[in-house]
Amino acid sequence: MKLLEGKNAIITGASRGIGMGIAKVFAEHGANVAFTYSSSEAPAIALEKELTAMGVKAKAYKSNAASFDDAEKLVAQVLEDFDGVIDVLINNAGITKDNLLMRMGEADFDAVIEINLKSVFNMTKAVQRTMLKQRKGAIINMSSVVGVKGNAGQSNYAASKAGMIGFTKSIALELGSRNIRCNAIAPGFIETEMTDKLDDKVVQGWRDGIPLKRGGAPEDVANACLFLASDLSAYITGQVLNVDGGMLT
Ligand code: NAP
Repeated sequence: MKLLEGKNAIITGASRGIGMGIAKVFAEHGANVAFTYSSSEAPAIALEKELTAMGVKAKAYKSNAASFDDAEKLVAQVLEDFDGVIDVLINNAGITKDNLLMRMGEADFDAVIEINLKSVFNMTKAVQRTMLKQRKGAIINMSSVVGVKGNAGQSNYAASKAGMIGFTKSIALELGSRNIRCNAIAPGFIETEMTDKLDDKVVQGWRDGIPLKRGGAPEDVANACLFLASDLSAYITGQVLNVDGGMLT
């Protein structure tokens, strides 16, 4: 059964990692996919071709998630390209700039907050009018277990991810009466380029703490997104779904 047949989805940051995994699973389930990248043009173009070959409409857009103007322009262009309908928004784009507070500069704090958190405001505001008119929409924000429990060396990242949870719950309350649902996913340790940067000892520490004894794959997160984007979750809003192999249990 195709769970998103004919639906239009926007995914930020899908040129690799979890976002790319979501784009592929959504296309397998019949969704048309508009997705963004900020600098990884070649993989984005390759993904656009791969998704198109799967029989759905797909388009890559260069758009900086941190920019309010970019978000407005992006959504206007997607509406033009995808018949004026946006069923699903996945706020996935994110970065890390890890350091102990003692060594963290202001620029690294600001960059993480702008790309991870302000982006969610930018994009949600940009799609809001369309979803209100449709009286339907699903918004999914990619938070993190770190936003729930904190993590030494990631105060900027944890603050951005915790902020996303507060934003998610508030938007669920604001827009629920118009049948617009807003949920967050809190992935644990998912093996992507973002986690490739971590030191081996840190990675082993994460793995040891996971009841399922493995890191997750982008598809593990993508399947949770599929559920929250589809009508299978029609009565679920304002929630944080941990996709973490039991890490926070
Ligand atoms: P990743 O492999 O580093 O991919 C990040 C994606 O975001 C790329 O497509 C990148 O595209 C895009 N991006 C970065 N800055 C952007 C910007 N300013 N504007 C638009 N796009 C931008 O990361 P990932 O592991 O897949 O993580 C995806 C999301 O899941 C992030 O929000 C992350 O915080 C969250 N998460 C990941 C894990 C994990 O273990 N991997 C755990 C919890 C939460 P460009 O290369 O073009 O910039």
